[in-house]
Amino acid sequence: NLRGEQIASVGSQAMHDSVWLKLAHRINELAKRSDVDGIVITHGTDTEGETGYFLQLTVKTTKPVVLVGAMRSATALSADGPLNLYNGIVVAANKTSADRGVLVAMNDYIYSARDVTKTNTTNVSTFQAPNTGPLGVVMDGKVEYYHRIIRKHTHETVFDVTGVNSLPKVDILYGYANTNPVLVDALVKDRVAGIVIAGVGNGNLYPTVEAKVKQITRQGIMVVRSNRTGSGRVLLNAETDDSALGTIAADDLNPQKARILLQLALLKTKDPKQIQQMFFEY
Ligand code: ASP
Repeated sequence: NLRGEQIASVGSQAMHDSVWLKLAHRINELAKRSDVDGIVITHGTDTEGETGYFLQLTVKTTKPVVLVGAMRSATALSADGPLNLYNGIVVAANKTSADRGVLVAMNDYIYSARDVTKTNTTNVSTFQAPNTGPLGVVMDGKVEYYHRIIRKHTHETVFDVTGVNSLPKVDILYGYANTNPVLVDALVKDRVAGIVIAGVGNGNLYPTVEAKVKQITRQGIMVVRSNRTGSGRVLLNAETDDSALGTIAADDLNPQKARILLQLALLKTKDPKQIQQMFFEY
């Protein structure tokens, strides 16, 4: 039996923290009900991976929660939305989908919301998990899993957003040759609690940015080093000396996912060591 309700109606380029919180609160209510076996969320594709990871860390259930989207409009030739929606429902209704964290079903593949990201502006195969690949496939009404997520998710996390109505302010700074360090000042002036840097290569920082980062971490602003390459891990204390800078390595989370984890981590602690540990656990 299918039942639908609307949480928000926005292009996902307009997604913001309050919709994420509303969605997490509603899923947590619904998942407790004995007449709900699973939940499917239709979502714009632009920020589908981000919403998925937010829910992956904040919904408390073993029931399947599956996000779906469409790359082509409903009136396009070979529109992909109807089949993606059908596949999402098939995945959510399947008992083997339980306790795998939040899932994203797109283009016949099933991904962990932690790992998946939009990699192409327009193509139907845009959703990829560059570091891990998909967890399984959904095809002809059948679901087959090949992998299981190991990182902690849903009911295993310490993040509980019950009663939480806003999230700490965390922004992303893009790294490039000759990065303008004034960008750091602008974010500090805007009173951010944390900054994620989409660093070059192994999350490296331009020297003048690095110097500013060293100062602001001493003032208690959390700085996480992610990377702009699109795949791979940022290693702690490898090429960049995190111990000297007071920075946190994002492991294999891309900048937009690292931002979400940092926002949630800051609800729990301001200790960079504990937050670093969370980046290895989630
Ligand atoms: N910009 C749209 C959105 O993310 C694209 C889509 O519908 O997938 O909402």
